[in-house]
Amino acid sequence: SKVIETHDINKTYKMGSEIIEALKSVSISVDRGEYVAFMGPSGSGKSTLMNIIGCLDSPTSGTYILSGKDVSDMSENELAEIRNKEIGFVFQTFNLLPRASCLDNVALPLVYAGYSRSDRKELAFQALSDVGLGDRTKHRPNELSGGQRQRVAIARALVNNPSIILADEPTGNLDSKTSYGIMELFHELHAGGNTIIMVTHEDDIAHYAHRVIRLRDGLVETDKINPNPTRGI
Ligand code: ADP
Ligand code: ADP
Repeated sequence: SKVIETHDINKTYKMGSEIIEALKSVSISVDRGEYVAFMGPSGSGKSTLMNIIGCLDSPTSGTYILSGKDVSDMSENELAEIRNKEIGFVFQTFNLLPRASCLDNVALPLVYAGYSRSDRKELAFQALSDVGLGDRTKHRPNELSGGQRQRVAIARALVNNPSIILADEPTGNLDSKTSYGIMELFHELHAGGNTIIMVTHEDDIAHYAHRVIRLRDGLVETDKINPNPTRGI
């Protein structure tokens, strides 16, 4: 089944009298369980598209269907609700709370979703265990390596069991050995049935994905299945 369908999405920004067309009639569809990389030069529209897919922003025109629901014209509040339920975000800069323990960082999305304290603990512990950090629950982010911090962020993205994991340059702040470790984890998450969309400008990172969509000047330039994705380190 399809988790994402965009139909002729346009996004324009007004800068004074200038109109910037960040996305021009972008139509893509992603099935549940796919692993997709977005590539393209700076300014090609990757962030704009990720923001729309992640329900952080709405298209100027066109339709966006997420998990069968038309979210194109939803209000900010409705989008926030959908976002909390359907999307797990992973950022280049990890975006962890420095004073909170790993367990509390991972449990945070569950607070918004209204889970009880004991359920939050249990689910956060499970998510941390799933990324190999079951023995780091009480540590704070600054007591961990960069790769471990990104694993905590990935556990936080997973804890809600979202429809999609959206990762914006997830290895952008990591050395290459650590990056490959994170890609191994993405490989396992994908093998476990998760839908993953990541932005990267690194060819060797994109090569872990099973499909690569390239943007240029707000248009989909190419959309290709990767016949032989990288598996091992
Ligand atoms: P975004 O607009 O999504 O934040 P950018 O494409 O502007 O992403 O790039 C994010 C970071 O990656 C920036 O620090 C940029 O300088 C760097 N970057 C982008 N493209 C390349 C590339 N081809 N090679 C090396 N670094 C890049
Ligand atoms: P990428 O992520 O590929 O670097 P972006 O989606 O960030 O590309 O940007 C696409 C185009 O839209 C660029 O020309 C950029 O300058 C413009 N743009 C992005 N966000 C805004 C904004 N908030 N206001 C005005 N122009 C923007």
